Amino acid sequence: MTSHTLHFMPPPPRRGRLARLGDWMARHRGAILAMQWIIVVFYLVLVALPAFLPHPHPEARLFSSDFGAASSVDPTFSVDGGQSRVEKIPYAASWRDRLVLLAQYLFWGLWWPFVILSILLMGRVWCGVLCPEGALTEFASRHGRGGPIPKWLRWNGWPLVAFILTTVYGQLISVYDYPQAALLILGGSTVAAVAVGWLYGKGKRVWCRYLCPVSGVFALLARLAPVHFRVDRAAWDAYRQRTSAVDCAPLLDVKHLKGATQCHACGRCSGHRDAVTLSARSPNGEILGGPPPTTHEALLLIFGMLGIALGAFQWSVNPWFVRGRQAVAEWLVNRDILWPLTDSPAWWLLTAYPEANDVFTWLDGAAILAYIGIVTLALGGATLLAVGGAARLAGADWRRLALGLTPLAGIGLFLGLSMMTATHLRAEGHALPWLPYLRGALLGLALAWSAWLGLGLLRADTPRRSRLVVAYALWLMPLTAVGGSWVLVFYVW
Ligand code: SF4
Repeated sequence: MTSHTLHFMPPPPRRGRLARLGDWMARHRGAILAMQWIIVVFYLVLVALPAFLPHPHPEARLFSSDFGAASSVDPTFSVDGGQSRVEKIPYAASWRDRLVLLAQYLFWGLWWPFVILSILLMGRVWCGVLCPEGALTEFASRHGRGGPIPKWLRWNGWPLVAFILTTVYGQLISVYDYPQAALLILGGSTVAAVAVGWLYGKGKRVWCRYLCPVSGVFALLARLAPVHFRVDRAAWDAYRQRTSAVDCAPLLDVKHLKGATQCHACGRCSGHRDAVTLSARSPNGEILGGPPPTTHEALLLIFGMLGIALGAFQWSVNPWFVRGRQAVAEWLVNRDILWPLTDSPAWWLLTAYPEANDVFTWLDGAAILAYIGIVTLALGGATLLAVGGAARLAGADWRRLALGLTPLAGIGLFLGLSMMTATHLRAEGHALPWLPYLRGALLGLALAWSAWLGLGLLRADTPRRSRLVVAYALWLMPLTAVGGSWVLVFYVW
């Protein structure tokens, strides 16, 4: 090739900032792995160690010892001029107290709500770059047996089943409040992830792809992310050099990647065949223009994220739940049926921490199950009927139509999980007067966003205006029900 021909070669296209960030991730795999292993160590210490420490003193605070002193109820009586007076002795939290509180705060106050937010904003970067369980299962798979993935494991209903079981079980054993319960659920999930990694695949994340209890939720939320790894098929096909296959840990066919749903945004494929680019996109694009979800995904959205999750967030703040449980207890006592009022025999069956004055009875366990079950069936059932009815009228796929509810479900999850953040901050003495306004704004955004998506989905399938109006009115009904439930939680109860 002469210098003359070089003169006429087009300059390579300049890659934008996002694309360069993706390329940086591909080139600095070592730095990402180092960060993953630091998080793994941090995670293992925080999930395991607090479970073997005593329950923190009720006055112990993580950051603020002053606030603990001001609200101390540790009285010392003395005689002063014939009158009793109370001296408040500040409680100095020990390192054990603080470690247990730190683990609670990080896991439930920061980790979960902000992982949900990060997926809404950046796709599944959490999975591909930060998740300790993903790092461990991939490591185990790299050094394990490397067996083929069995057919039963590829069933796409596992994320739905696992989400239901872990959410409900977590409520029964008070996973947010006690490190033993957190160790059982989070640690149990980690052990299962490592075992699955060791058994199946070679250097892959079989657990994350098929079994992780939150992978279905993350897959739904990632559809809204305004960034994704985009594959330019024309550039891929035009690339003339031989390339080795991409080491995609969640086992994706990168060439045919259509969206952010299953992509863990690990960046390993960025720049591959000059065709894969980290790019910006419309947050509505994958929902309005992408393929419909599977039936299990749609059911997870309707019954899991909008039903079970709402029931789990609600029961402890609902005064009707307390009154109903009390009425049943009196009814049982009047009939001399006392065994349902006996205490839980073990903390791993139902919450049982006598040292913290927190022991569930069998009736408590049954009441929680009944409450979550009723909310799930009522809210999820009504949503399914409304979405199904609208889809029938519009001649649309009900699963695709259900996707319009994703913003409401996702922002609802963030709002529900951040209730723990607010509890922790209030315990540290922060009044948070702005919180009701922020919650109102987020709820309004979620409702408006879902309403907009619903209209877009219906318009794409319904040419007749009269049908569109009726179908849309039907489709909006779940928004009213779910929005109303959140209003009860934040402003009425
Ligand atoms: S397609 Fe696979 S390799 Fe590429 S970013 Fe997503 S998870 Fe990583």
